[in-house]
Amino acid sequence: MKTFYIETFGCQMNAHDSEKVVGTLVSEGYTQVPAPEQADLILYNTCSIRDKAEQKVFHRLQQFKKQQGQGKLFGVLGCVAQQEGERIFERAPHVSLVAGSASYSKLPQMLVQLEAGNRHVTGLSLDTDEAFDTPFTRRDNPHRAYITIIEGCDKACAYCVVPFTRGPERSRAGASVLKEARELASMGYKEIQLLGQNVNSYRDPSPAGWDFARLLRAAGQVQGIRRVRFTTSHPRDFVKDIVDAIEENPVLCNHVHLPVQSGSSNVLERMQRLYTRDDYMRRIEWMKAARRNIAITTDIIVGFPGETETDFEQTLSLLEEVQYDSLFSFKYSRRPNTSALALDDHIPEEEKTRRLAILQEKQRAIQIRRNSELVGTVDEAFVEGYNQATGQWIGRTTQNRILNFIHPEHAGPSGDETLIGKYSDVRITRAGPNSLAGEAVTCV
Ligand code: SAM
Ligand code: SF4
Repeated sequence: MKTFYIETFGCQMNAHDSEKVVGTLVSEGYTQVPAPEQADLILYNTCSIRDKAEQKVFHRLQQFKKQQGQGKLFGVLGCVAQQEGERIFERAPHVSLVAGSASYSKLPQMLVQLEAGNRHVTGLSLDTDEAFDTPFTRRDNPHRAYITIIEGCDKACAYCVVPFTRGPERSRAGASVLKEARELASMGYKEIQLLGQNVNSYRDPSPAGWDFARLLRAAGQVQGIRRVRFTTSHPRDFVKDIVDAIEENPVLCNHVHLPVQSGSSNVLERMQRLYTRDDYMRRIEWMKAARRNIAITTDIIVGFPGETETDFEQTLSLLEEVQYDSLFSFKYSRRPNTSALALDDHIPEEEKTRRLAILQEKQRAIQIRRNSELVGTVDEAFVEGYNQATGQWIGRTTQNRILNFIHPEHAGPSGDETLIGKYSDVRITRAGPNSLAGEAVTCV
């Protein structure tokens, strides 16, 4: 029996790629095991978005190097594989397989080569024009399923490795996306999340030629699916029709993740983000003007080369103006191949750390304020788990807020009594910066 272990680093795209890789390996006769010690083949699906993420992968490879003597095979998949290519064989000679995400459709052939004794198997071509669409996906979460609608990225943000590691944009046919959504619904999934580096530039390659808003509307009509999410949206391609689609159908979650990166138009220009602060604010205004209360979240990079104190203050003022529900913030990290490497005025690490702390403190105060405004209201939570320590169910609202709650008739998960996978109306009684707490009102 051939066994494999896989560890995943990075974003939701990587998590979903791993689900597809697992499905493909299982269909090729491999069995997944929970620990590397038990595996014949050890795979790392890697992330290279920031330097730290990349270092983590090489550290992990070193940890298990000793086991090479025990006949184990090692493979590096994903963004570090694509970025470093065959150099990985030099840096970590115990690795036998190096493959980027654009080559995963050829995984079965790569496995055959590995089994035949080839110890330098590569899948590094970026010229595939098809998306990695496999019937074998093994999903980790029994209630919420990812569906890739577009892979790769055709933008050229000055700091970002994704166009180099994931290749050019390839959209998947709308009919294929909807077929997968219907199959998931028939398997009992209630929530789907449409995935892509830039979902808004989706363009159906079939004659139907649907844009993203059209696909979103169709996904919202799939029988049995109660919530549809999507990520990530690029501000430049975010059109008002997406807000209109959310307004029309409550199945489409009222949450939009719209990464801004900086509140300064000067920095945005240097980043080659293709929009100004005013362009961005116009999109925010569409959402704020909607009848539904659309949660808005973002990504911010501090300390991009040349970011002045004034630029940084503009980012802080943007936080005040938008009142984000949550955000991910990062210190700028130099990445290979990117055009930002050639810019002047790289910011010292301590200054980046200082700016990040100020930004996070400001956002924390905003979140405390925004979340406390919800105390006393009732919201619907999709139940994802149970916390033994606190005796609370762990739920998520359509706005993507974590809502922990107690239920008078369901004190804990026992057999059929479990609420996991169900929906419950919850009265919000307390609010923290990162989550809400409450008591169930009804359970559907
Ligand atoms: N495609 C998405 C977009 O355009 O917003 C983002 C994809 S990226 C996987 C997620 C986030 O990582 C980005 O929004 C950015 O904030 C951050 N990021 C990307 N490259 C970075 C770098 N070199 N240093 C720090 N943060 C970075
Ligand atoms: Fe990276 Fe920009 Fe593409 Fe997002 S849009 S993946 S930040 S290059």
